[in-house]
Amino acid sequence: MERFVRQTILPQLGEEGQRKLWEARVLVVGCGALGTHTAEALLRAGVGHLILVDRDLVEVHNLHRVSLFTPEDVGKPKAEVCAEKLRKIWPDAEIVSYVAHFGPELAEELVPKVDLVMDGLDNLETRYLLNDACVKYEKPWIYTAVLATYGMTMPILPGKGPCLRCLFPNPPAPGTVPTCAQAGILGPVPKALAAIQAATAIAILVGSGEVRPGELLYVDLWQRRFQTVQVQRGRDCPTCVARDFQFLREISRSAVLCGDAVQILPRKGGSLDLVALAERLGKLGKAVVKNGLLFAEIEGVSFTVFPDGRALVKGVSDPNRAQALYDQFISR
Ligand SMILES: [Zn+2]
Repeated sequence: MERFVRQTILPQLGEEGQRKLWEARVLVVGCGALGTHTAEALLRAGVGHLILVDRDLVEVHNLHRVSLFTPEDVGKPKAEVCAEKLRKIWPDAEIVSYVAHFGPELAEELVPKVDLVMDGLDNLETRYLLNDACVKYEKPWIYTAVLATYGMTMPILPGKGPCLRCLFPNPPAPGTVPTCAQAGILGPVPKALAAIQAATAIAILVGSGEVRPGELLYVDLWQRRFQTVQVQRGRDCPTCVARDFQFLREISRSAVLCGDAVQILPRKGGSLDLVALAERLGKLGKAVVKNGLLFAEIEGVSFTVFPDGRALVKGVSDPNRAQALYDQFISR
């Protein structure tokens, strides 16, 4: 308890609140800047159980905004790097990491197990899925998004206020919403929004009645502007009124564009013998197993293969072509 003494003297927490944090289970979806800063803030505050999910690897262009990542982490799975560093910060906490795509199956598996879900995502499509799962299992979650110099955040308490689909009724057409890769991101922005959503999370976990469901906070750090808007519940919201969880139902597409790579999901579960695969692929081009991942380059196309069979294919822009190459080289 000595570790948390500056926090337990806060009347909002006390030892009782601190105990609630220790018992809490929180899922953080996405371990980029937003997710890792959120996870670190919650861990340091004393949240005892964290589940981290991210499918990507640390890249050199993440380093300008992610405090936990250092140059030697480049090429390693983000979720594992984050978990490893958090364990060093507070070894008593339980931290579980999933290097995996957050699809309907994983959402159905993880969301019912936790008390609260935190947004560390970089795309709206997965947020709709997360919203479906949280409304279905009546789990509070905090929506937070960042871009360029600004960000916004809103606590979603199913049954007590609006959900994400009350705010954005329909998913935007693919390619119409800019990403951080296109619009850029100011380094301190995700850290500021992560701090705000972590503080809201602590208030929810200790049972403070002061969290206002559906209060959307907009922050622009460049203009030093903070604004709040109260979002209303949609009278005919398909998710939280009709309880039609279409994003959980949709079978995730096997091949999706993911930055400058095409991601291929395996058709069946199980794990790949990456060393044996590297030996086979080495005869066709270059192949090496490093940090538990297989990196191969064949005919100008590069493959990063994960032990669960998932692969990132770079050098082709057509998902069908990437799927064909995957079938030809990886899953045979
Ligand atoms: Zn709704």
